[in-house]
Parts: sequence; structure tokens; C-alpha cells
Amino acid sequence: MKISPSLFSKNLRQIKNNPPEVVILPWGATEAHGQHLPYASDVIQSYEISILAAKKANDSGGKCVVLPAIPFGNDAQQLDSFCTIHLNSITAFHILDDVCASLKKQNMSKLLLVNSHGGNNFKPFIRDLQLKHEILILLVDLHLMIPEKVKEIFSDYGDHSGEIETSLMMYLKPESVDKNFGDGKRVPFAKSSFTQSGVWTPRPWKESHPDFGAGNPINSSKEKGELYCNLLIDRLSQIIVEFTEIKKGEIPFV
Ligand SMILES: [Zn+2]
Repeated sequence: MKISPSLFSKNLRQIKNNPPEVVILPWGATEAHGQHLPYASDVIQSYEISILAAKKANDSGGKCVVLPAIPFGNDAQQLDSFCTIHLNSITAFHILDDVCASLKKQNMSKLLLVNSHGGNNFKPFIRDLQLKHEILILLVDLHLMIPEKVKEIFSDYGDHSGEIETSLMMYLKPESVDKNFGDGKRVPFAKSSFTQSGVWTPRPWKESHPDFGAGNPINSSKEKGELYCNLLIDRLSQIIVEFTEIKKGEIPFV
């Protein structure tokens, strides 16, 4: 019988008999997703895609386990929607620091962080923590992985609860999708120079996205979600296999 990569079902004996090389930490958010997707959409996506990719990788030479997902992310600009939970960056840093310290104590040196929430920004944390703990931390931002395929599959590239996420949720958790979609209308910034490349400020969500979605989900489908999901799983499973194989002394594992 195949043993699931999920730590929701693995026990100590199974871990001892087949120790993992790579530990996967899915990281999501708990936030309003338009009017029609569940609050835990990002948790579901990061966790479920990690599990599916881990299973595929472990069938092809990968040796990984998947931790329970961190359910909260940076939602500082969305706190005007009920039940959205904001995790301060410093809190997120300390969570990641403690995960790394725990793994290091157990001689684990490979952490794969699978992020599904656009508001999370782990790069500065990883630079600091890789220096501190001397473990290799690889970041996967799920929705940034295959931009060329996104353009082929979807007609509207909204980045929150639009066609991409709605299609994905129709495939992963169809019972959780309310078909009464909003239009995901985006109110542009009053000053157009604020949106030119290289310039950034966070969006005041309630004003810039009146129905809490960014992008129109009208053309969403389960089939598009399945296609996109399987492409993500293929890429992520390849990463897990190569992460399993990499040895100390190789770049970037120096
Ligand atoms: Zn989302």
C-alpha cells in the first residue's frame, strides 16, 4: 500500500522506515475570495496541489512529506471584509524561523515552501533564514509558475477569485464554489503612473475591488481548472524530484 505524503496520515514508524529528504510547507491565507469562493481557497490550493505533486514525485524518485498548511497570510489591505485574518510579516517570519530551526535540529536540510497567496512575500525571510540555519529553502509561488500556460488557458487573468482561481476551485473543491459570481471589477488607480512597471503600492481592497474579486470569473470551468492544476502538479513534482536529488556541494546547495 502506498503511504500518503501527508503528515495528516503518516506516523513516526513510517517516517523512520522511509525518512524524507524534502519537507514541504504549504502556505495560504484566510480571506474573502470574491463573493463566491471559500475563505480558505488559498489554503486548499497550496495544500491540495502540494499533496498531488508530492504523490507524483514520490512515484518517480522523490522523497518528501507535506506538512499541514499555514492558514494565514498577509491581508493588511483586506481587513474590511469579515473573518479575513491578517498575519503580520514579523509573525510570518517567526513561524518560518521556528519551522527551519525544528528541521535543522532533526538534520533535515531541505524545505520547500509552496505559497498560493499573492500578498505573501517570503524572499527577504528566506535570504535571512538560509544564512541563519544553513538549510536550503526553495520557494514556489504557485500562481507565478506557468504564466505562458495561463495566457493559453484563460481569457481573463485576474489575480484574485477570477477565472483562474475559480476554475481551479471548481476542479479541486467543486462543492465549495457558489455559481452566483460577481464581475470582479477593478477600479483603476486615480493616477496612472502609479501602475507603471517598477512602481508599486498595495491596493486598498474594498475601494479598488468592490466585490472582493479581481478578474471576471464568468468563463471559469472545471476543465480549465483541471488542465491548469495538472500542469502545476507536473512542474511541482519535477521540482520535488530534483530537490530530493540535490546534494551538498552542488549549486545552490553549497
Ligand atoms: Zn486566492
